Amino acid sequence: MKIENVHRCPYCGYMYQAILGQNVYSNLFSDPGGNIALHSVIYICPHIACKKIEVSVDAGMIPVSAQGKIEGDRNRMGYDISGVFFSERILPRDVGGKPEFKVAEVPEVIFRDYDEACRLLGVSPSASATYARRCLQSMVRKKFKLKPGKFQNEIKTLSSVSGTVKQEVIEALESVRRMGRFRAMPEDDVRVIAEITYAEARKIIDIIEVILCDWFVAPAEQDKRAGALRAILERKSA
Ligand SMILES: [Zn+2]
Repeated sequence: MKIENVHRCPYCGYMYQAILGQNVYSNLFSDPGGNIALHSVIYICPHIACKKIEVSVDAGMIPVSAQGKIEGDRNRMGYDISGVFFSERILPRDVGGKPEFKVAEVPEVIFRDYDEACRLLGVSPSASATYARRCLQSMVRKKFKLKPGKFQNEIKTLSSVSGTVKQEVIEALESVRRMGRFRAMPEDDVRVIAEITYAEARKIIDIIEVILCDWFVAPAEQDKRAGALRAILERKSA
């Protein structure tokens, strides 16, 4: 993997000059006997209030070629590994949405907002909450085929469909609506950024994950099981 000259910290968003041996560390393990190579890159954010560690790993096979504009230019010492079978940033973990929600059952636009909310969480809880709230609204509209309106009215509509939506879900949606200064804002103005704490933003994401499961993933799984049952019933007895 390549080592960037200018790197952006995924935790605090600080942009800094990546200097090998100072705030970025690159390590290559390779064993011709096992035809295996592993390249790890560790960035340590130099921002005084952050200092958090980021770890990425590439694993593949030999041959490995060094990157660098000049021979021995260790400031740009990245490596290209052939036949890469693993390439991931393993720290920080909670930057993107959980991949189990990136499925056909979850509409792409909904996943995108949820994913963005997760990515922004460590950088700006307020921005994260704005995406998370928009995501929740899209979920409500998609699931119940509602025309865009005020979130408050949408929640009222859901609570009137008795038996269909659990009371806990209504309460969760209501708590998101009331969170921070949202209640004092024009209901659908997602351009307005409210001051939200990390814990509050995290809470909205947790709510999204439970409801995503409940409304989109679980029904699709039930359909699959019903299909399996039908196939069994239609099977001709020998
Ligand atoms: Zn940082």
